Amino acid sequence: MENSTAATIPEAKVSTAFANRVFHSGQDLKPTALDTLQINITKLCNQACVHCHVDSSPRRREAMSDETLDRILAILKADDQIKTLDITGGAPELHARFKDVVKEARALGKTVMIRHNLTVAQDPHPVTKESMHDLPDFFAEYGVEIVSSLPYYQEFFTDKQRGSGVFKKSITTLQQLNERGFGTSGGERVLNLVYNPVGAFLPPNQEDLEKTYKKHLKENFGISFDQLFALTNMPIHRFKVQLKRLGTYEEYMETLSGAFNPAAAKGIMCRNLVSVAYDGTLYDCDFNQVLGMKLRDVPDLQSWNREKLLKRTIKTDDHCFGCTAGAGSSCGGNTADE
Ligand code: SF4
Ligand code: SF4
Repeated sequence: MENSTAATIPEAKVSTAFANRVFHSGQDLKPTALDTLQINITKLCNQACVHCHVDSSPRRREAMSDETLDRILAILKADDQIKTLDITGGAPELHARFKDVVKEARALGKTVMIRHNLTVAQDPHPVTKESMHDLPDFFAEYGVEIVSSLPYYQEFFTDKQRGSGVFKKSITTLQQLNERGFGTSGGERVLNLVYNPVGAFLPPNQEDLEKTYKKHLKENFGISFDQLFALTNMPIHRFKVQLKRLGTYEEYMETLSGAFNPAAAKGIMCRNLVSVAYDGTLYDCDFNQVLGMKLRDVPDLQSWNREKLLKRTIKTDDHCFGCTAGAGSSCGGNTADE
């Protein structure tokens, strides 16, 4: 049952508060570019993390259709201003056409970024039971950029957030990626890691944390990586339910709103990307996707129109304070200096 205090928060008022805050800080939230297409191709995942904001698990079967994938590839081909294809899920590697899409996007000259959970390379495919061990070689052959969540550099905290055994498997994959030059080639083969807090608090300083991660992973496991992205936990979905159950939702929202940083609004991801759901519907970001906040004038791939997308009004709500708190939080880590 939801906590009664948290349940009394008027969502519309909080939403207006975010828009007002941005306006009064002299910033706006208009799109500045459209250079990245983020596609969520499946909700299937080999893991079922308790904090997962897209509710993925080995039991989910939603997957992007061939028609939708072909439409995306056609848009990538026609639009040379889209430089990056950001592929996420679930575990995107589990989609039957994952490798085809990567190959075709690379052949078009796009940067391909994979949101890779590390363990998927060690576990059998949850449905077909096929081995996924060839993933590090595939990534190396097609020169993708890898972004992987490793909630902490110690086993206890990582397994607490992502499940028993996740840390050991993640370390094995990281070592395999290092052997293929990811994270060890001075940026030629990119391997970035993601940290997010285990509770209702803001992430620590990204630069300091990156140094600590690098030291521990190198000393204990011989692992190197390029950058650490310190992300804020968004007050949505499972995490929001958890906060309300604990009676700390209001307090967390006050923390986020109190740490509002106008400079962070400049670099948030909704200003330069569009997020595509598995069914081809369009959103300002994957958080809005989870919340069902579909774009108004260009709701799906069928109605794709670059000019309209660049002129759209980004839909915001209370969760947006998660992107502008402190040093800011986006899919590429901090968006501003604190
Ligand atoms: S690995 Fe990622 S997509 Fe899969 S359940 Fe965990 S958070 Fe969700
Ligand atoms: S949650 Fe999405 S729409 Fe809101 S500020 Fe962040 S990126 Fe933009």
